[in-house]
Amino acid sequence: MVSRVIPVDPFDLVIFGGTGDLAKRKILPGLFRRFVSGQMPSEALIMGAARAKMNDTEYRDLVKIAILEFGSASLDEKLLVDFLDKVTYLRIDATGEAGWLELSQSMRNGPVRAFYFSVAPSLFGALAERLKKHKIALSDSRIVVEKPFGRDLESAKILNATLAAHFSEDQIYRIDHYLGKETVQNLMAVRFGNLLFEPLWNSQYIDHIQITVAEKVDVEGRGEYYNTSGAMRDMVQNHLMQLLCLIAMEPPAQFNPDAVRDEKLKVIRALDKVPPHHIVRGQYEASSDSFGYREHANDAKSRTESYVAIKAHVSNWRWAGTPFYMRTGKRLRSRCSEIAVVFKQPPHSIFGSEAGTHRNALVIRLQPDEGITMDMTIKEPGPGGMRLITVPLDMTFSEALGPAAEEVPDAYERLIMDVIRGNQTLFMRGDEVEAAWEWTDPIIKGWKERNDVPKPYDAGSSGPDDALMLLHREDRKWRPI
Ligand code: NAD
Repeated sequence: MVSRVIPVDPFDLVIFGGTGDLAKRKILPGLFRRFVSGQMPSEALIMGAARAKMNDTEYRDLVKIAILEFGSASLDEKLLVDFLDKVTYLRIDATGEAGWLELSQSMRNGPVRAFYFSVAPSLFGALAERLKKHKIALSDSRIVVEKPFGRDLESAKILNATLAAHFSEDQIYRIDHYLGKETVQNLMAVRFGNLLFEPLWNSQYIDHIQITVAEKVDVEGRGEYYNTSGAMRDMVQNHLMQLLCLIAMEPPAQFNPDAVRDEKLKVIRALDKVPPHHIVRGQYEASSDSFGYREHANDAKSRTESYVAIKAHVSNWRWAGTPFYMRTGKRLRSRCSEIAVVFKQPPHSIFGSEAGTHRNALVIRLQPDEGITMDMTIKEPGPGGMRLITVPLDMTFSEALGPAAEEVPDAYERLIMDVIRGNQTLFMRGDEVEAAWEWTDPIIKGWKERNDVPKPYDAGSSGPDDALMLLHREDRKWRPI
């Protein structure tokens, strides 16, 4: 089976922060891959814009190095030259007047105009204002904004209002790259494209849900920034809550941006307030060969969490009584992001207690090796009597899809193409972001008021023991990471 690549409309894409880490690691290599795939039309232009002084040739060198370092393994030199031909550079000051006239003059009439704000959020307002003031952004132009989108409800509201002063909501694309992952979209296809799951998708049949985003890396290099944020702000408020929404939401009437986002918003609004004993915070300790969190953060008394586990409840008709366990952390045993939907046991085992207890689990794996598996109970092969075992049924269908399954675009490149297509389904709406902060804020405030100290955990472990107890005391256990 060959996947179809439908080219997007011609576009002018300006990447503010075009010399930054995100542009180099994700945006530019992703655009190159879309060019190679044939999705980027020949009329497309990409303009890097940043503070550094450089000319087009120097910028193309930077782009080339970024693609060689972070792009696809096999590289066609001719295609790279053709791609670089579409790339230009402009020195611009987001907070001053330098470069804006030149930018205005270099925009073409006709192509879609998109502006990627790959800069610190403190510059969003200045960029939005100047794009409008210089009439560079038109009524159908799009802006793409990166996380963090605020650090609490108040700052998110201010940021939303700042952008809303210059752009309408349907022009604002708030990126959460987790939503751009192939498997996350496949989750919706599996849920709503099959009759099989939806009748079981409720508290009557589902025992609990686990959402895990575990990272092996520490915070080294960005420790001081991370120390002002923590796992709750950095991961839970955005990525984990977005995943929770997609699992828990009602079927939207249509797969269109507002229908999907309305349903996600209802989930966030149905989340119960979390009592302190349903949350475990952790901080990784030093090991024989590496520093601990506090050394990385350069703060010997830091109370910022590098790990958090939460038991959450969605109080609505579908989910009453089904816990959603979420956990995320740094410096854990392995890099692993997955959602596990763990079903209840059959009401009666005809095979007797010696057959053991087995549950079905639908596991949506985001990384590594994106894919979906279903844990099924079968008879252990052989003549040993009726003994049951659990085996994963692979629903990734890589054999059926052949090379198409190998050519899955990275989340960023998919989302950028959605921006050009004008499709906001996989982007967060302003009210969703605010509702997520509304749920997160009291948790963070509670820690501060109680002077909560995160529990230490060993580097390379699966997190603090208390997080294991969060499930153990309810006769459940985390899936291994
Ligand atoms: P960076 O510090 O590496 O790059 C910042 C860029 O902004 C540079 O190109 C710089 O020239 C430009 N810039 C700074 N001040 C400017 C000004 N006054 N006028 C014009 N340009 C200016 O940052 P980054 O890591 O690329 O991150 C960019 C944004 O993306 C941030 O909001 C960050 O939180 C977010 N983000 C980054 C990552 C990542 O992996 N790097 C992941 C998620 C979100």
